[in-house]
Amino acid sequence: MDPNCLFCRIVARVIPAKIVFENERVVGFEDIAPVAPTHVLFVPREHFASSLEVDASRRAVVGELVQVAAQLARARGFAEDGYRMVFNTNAGAGQTVFHLHLHLLGGRRFGWPPG
Ligand code: 5GP
Ligand code: ZN
Repeated sequence: MDPNCLFCRIVARVIPAKIVFENERVVGFEDIAPVAPTHVLFVPREHFASSLEVDASRRAVVGELVQVAAQLARARGFAEDGYRMVFNTNAGAGQTVFHLHLHLLGGRRFGWPPG
C-alpha cells in the first residue's frame, strides 16, 4: 500500500467510497464524478501505476478486472446493449490517479472515436 495513493486509501477503507465489488485481489467502487449512469472503477489491491507496469506476475489480476467488470455489466442489465471499458494511461490519455484502474461505463450510448 502506498499511503500517498488515493486508490490505495480507498482499498484500505481510509477514504470512504461506495464499494460495489471486492475479493482478495480486486475492488470495484463507484466513480465520484460519474460520466455515465454506471461508472465503476475496478482496481487491483496491489499498488502499481498503470498498464505500463503489467508484467507476467500481474496478467492474471488485470484479466480479473475485466472479468468482474463484465459480470457487473451483466448484473446491471446493459451488457447486451453495450458498454465501455477504459484504462487511461499517462497524462496524454487523461490519467489522473496513478494506481491502475479499469473504468466500466454503461447505461448510455458511447461515441467513437473517444475524445
Ligand atoms: P483517470 O482520469 O485517472 O483515468 O480516472 C480517475 C477517476 O477517479 C476519475 O474518473 C475520477 O472521477 C475518479 N476519482 C477521483 N477522486 C476520487 C475519489 O476520491 N473517489 C472516487 N470514488 N473516485 C475518484
Ligand atoms: Zn495505490
